[in-house]
Amino acid sequence: MARKLVTGIVGWRGMVGSVLIDRMRAERDFDHIETLLFSTSNAGAAIPASLADVAGAAATLLDANDTAALSKCEVILTCQGSDYTKAIYPKLRAAGWKGYWIDAAKTLRMNDDSVIVLDPVNRPVIDAALARGVKDYIGGNCTVSCMLMGVGALFKAGLVEWMAATTYQAASGGGAQHMRELLTQFGALNASVKPLLDDPASAILEIDRQVTARQRSLSANETRNFVVPLGGSLIPWIDVDRGDGTSLEEWKGGAETNKILGRGPGFGSPATPIDSICVRVGAMRCHSQSLTLKLTKDVPLVDIEGLIAQDNEWVKVVPNTRDATLSALTPVAVSGTMQIPVGRLRKLAMGPQYLGAFTIGDQLLWGAAEPLRRMLRILCKA
Ligand code: NAP
Repeated sequence: MARKLVTGIVGWRGMVGSVLIDRMRAERDFDHIETLLFSTSNAGAAIPASLADVAGAAATLLDANDTAALSKCEVILTCQGSDYTKAIYPKLRAAGWKGYWIDAAKTLRMNDDSVIVLDPVNRPVIDAALARGVKDYIGGNCTVSCMLMGVGALFKAGLVEWMAATTYQAASGGGAQHMRELLTQFGALNASVKPLLDDPASAILEIDRQVTARQRSLSANETRNFVVPLGGSLIPWIDVDRGDGTSLEEWKGGAETNKILGRGPGFGSPATPIDSICVRVGAMRCHSQSLTLKLTKDVPLVDIEGLIAQDNEWVKVVPNTRDATLSALTPVAVSGTMQIPVGRLRKLAMGPQYLGAFTIGDQLLWGAAEPLRRMLRILCKA
C-alpha cells in the first residue's frame, strides 16, 4: 500500500461531516490515511469514543484554528462551512502551506485555480488538474451534484439546449441545527392540536385554524435558523439575495454546472443556460428537482432513458407510472442511499424537443460527502 497521507478532518460533527465519517468507515478510507481530527469548538478534549476506531494516534482533538497544527497535514478535508474556509484557508496558503485542500463549502468553488469535484462526471477534469499541480478540490453545490449524477448524460451527449429546474430541498441542507428546528416545529404543531387529533369527531377546519395560528406564533427561538416556519410550509428562497431577483442557490445551478462540465467563457465555449427556482421544503433529507429540458434535437424517449441509465452505476431510471413513482421517487425512498433515481421522464406538450424529468438525490451523500471522500481516495492513489 502507498504511504498514508496525513489528513486533517475538520467539521466531522456536522451534518455533512457525520455522513462523511460513516461513508469513510464503510469504504475503509481510514486504512489509507493518517487521520488527525480537528475541532473549532472543543480543541484539547478527548477524542470521542465513537471515533476511537478512526482517530489515529492523537489522543485529543486538535485546534482547527491553529494554522501551525493544520500545516502538518498533507491533506485538509473540511466540512466546517464557508466562514471557516474564509478565515483559515488564506492564512494557511499565505504561510506557505502547499497541501491539498478538500472542502464542502462554497467559498473557493468558483476560483480559477480550484476544481469542483464530481468524479463520475468530471474525472478527466480532475486528472488534468492534478497533473498541472492544482491543490484545491471543492465539492459542488448539493443540488447541482445530485442533478448531474442523474441527468449528466444528456449534457455530456450535447443534447441540452437549456434547462430550467424547480427544486424541493430538504431541511438538512441547512445543517444539523436546521434539521432539529424542523422537527421541533413539527412537534409544536402536533402538540397544539393533539386533543383534537385524538378525537375523530373534531372538526378539521378547527384543527387547520389552530395549526395555522401556532405556525404564525412560532417564537424567534423556534424559527432561529429558517427565519420563518418550515414545518407545514415551504420557503421559496435559499441562500443570500443577489439583488437581481435571484438567490445565490439559483445562481450556483448555472455557474457550477457549467464549471463542472468545463463549459462557458472560461473554457472557450458557450455556457449552457440553466436557471431555477430553489425552494426549501419540510423533507428531512434529499434534494428533489423537477426539470424542464429543451433538447438540441428530437430524440426518442427510449434513447433518452437508455443514455441516462447507462451513465453511471448509481443512476436509476424510474418508469413513468404512478406505482413506480410512489415506490422509488420520494425523499423517503432515497434517503441514506447512494441511488439517484430519475423518473417522470416524458416529452412535454410544448413539442418533441421538450423533456420533463424529476430526480432525487441524498444531498448529504452524492451532494456533499461522497465526492469529497472519493477525491481523497484519488489523492491516495496519485
Ligand atoms: P452543520 O451541520 O451546521 O455543521 C458545521 C459545524 O457546526 C460542525 O462541524 C460543528 O462544528 C458545528 N455545530 C454547531 N452545533 C452543532 C450541532 N448541534 N450538531 C453538529 N454540529 C454542530 O453544517 P453542514 O450542513 O454539515 O455543512 C457544512 C458545509 O457543507 C457548509 O459549507 C455547507 O454549505 C456545505 N454543504 C452542506 C450540505 C448539506 O446538505 N447540509 C450539502 C453540501 C454542502 P464544531 O464541532 O467545530 O463545533
